[in-house]
Amino acid sequence: MATLRAPRGTRDLLPDERALFAHLMRTGADLATRYGYQQIETPMFEQAAVFERGIGEVTDVVEKELFRIAPRTEESESWALRPEPTAGMVRAYVQHGMQTWPQPVKLTMTGPMFRYDRPQAGRYRQFWQFDVEAIGDPGPAVDAEIIELGLRFYRDAGVAGVEVLVNSIGDPECRPAYTQALTEYYRRHAAALPPTERDRLERNVLRLLDSKDPAMAELNETAPRITEHLCDACAAHFEAVKAHLTAVGVPFRVESALVRGLDYYTRTAFEFYVAGREGQQQALGGGGRYDGLVQLLGGRPTPGIGFGLGLDRVALVLAEQGSVASRETGPLAVVVGADPHDTVTRLRIATELRTAGLRVRADLGRRKLGRQLEAAGREGAHFAVILGDELSAGQVQVRDLLAGTQRIVAADDLARELARAEASHRHG
Ligand code: AMP
Repeated sequence: MATLRAPRGTRDLLPDERALFAHLMRTGADLATRYGYQQIETPMFEQAAVFERGIGEVTDVVEKELFRIAPRTEESESWALRPEPTAGMVRAYVQHGMQTWPQPVKLTMTGPMFRYDRPQAGRYRQFWQFDVEAIGDPGPAVDAEIIELGLRFYRDAGVAGVEVLVNSIGDPECRPAYTQALTEYYRRHAAALPPTERDRLERNVLRLLDSKDPAMAELNETAPRITEHLCDACAAHFEAVKAHLTAVGVPFRVESALVRGLDYYTRTAFEFYVAGREGQQQALGGGGRYDGLVQLLGGRPTPGIGFGLGLDRVALVLAEQGSVASRETGPLAVVVGADPHDTVTRLRIATELRTAGLRVRADLGRRKLGRQLEAAGREGAHFAVILGDELSAGQVQVRDLLAGTQRIVAADDLARELARAEASHRHG
């Protein structure tokens, strides 16, 4: 029989890594709460139109990477797994009339995203993002607040040396003149363009700037810069974002070639990197302002801004930086027994201790006491509760596996004794 494996581009998060992910998700959720964001959960798949309209048809994400779900019947709607969270969250904002809520509506969500991309290091077909969106605030202060929140997430998560690159990509006022200038520039260099990029030149020229094709690097170096084409309102907004960043002590670097991969961005765009590692597939996270998106998805014109931070890449960087993943903690105690066959008493006592709120495992095999104790030690348990002859007198032995000591405890006092020992161990 063929070996069964997780699909290409996906991976199993085994307990140690899952514990790290839980820690990252908790870090994100706690921070988002502190900054006034509320949790939301949207479906992992949406009508494909949510992404086609919201992200833009001429983007890598929709053109090449959208995970479409094959319909079972011809009449079925066309669905796709979410490649990013913003479009679905804004769809929910419109659908549930959140325009009538006090603005801005600040939402946060963490979960898996799906892109049918060619898998490689740091690029998966299923990956996790921590995301925040502030919808209904035109900025510029909230732009800086969100960027500061992103940096704080990396700091709290223990990633060293994260840097933020910022740019303004203009708005429908000023971008057309810029894209015109950019188109003319690339037309002059058409002969040097790889075929895909030549094809995109007339359809969505901004994409060429963040092309993944190495042949484009040199050409993009000397391309016209959006920052030289911003209208007065966008230029003022960008200046104000930078002033707010400075005021809250956030160091940043302006990167005028930063355009972001999705169509809906306006004005502020930003990406987080480990300093010195700004290559392709290295972005730890990114985000930007999307003042046109709510309207694109059927709502009243409403500004918005948000970010998506990739947790898989944070995990990779933490591993590279030698940061120890927080291990899943072993049980406080394991209940073991001198009578290999008496699993009833072991299970009963463990159940009582768990009812008292303690982290306790029972050894439910039928092996000898010595083996049960060895297993408890290997698991990192602090105590072994040993059931033996004393049980008839209402007593058990409690062995401190870390200290190597042992004493008799009344079964009725067991939960209290273990809880006290755990508390003193934690504080001691
Ligand atoms: P993007 O919307 O492409 O800017 O993605 C935001 C963040 O999600 C990136 O900075 C990455 O950290 C992460 N990310 C995007 N695509 C992938 C992927 N295929 N595999 C792992 N992480 C990803």
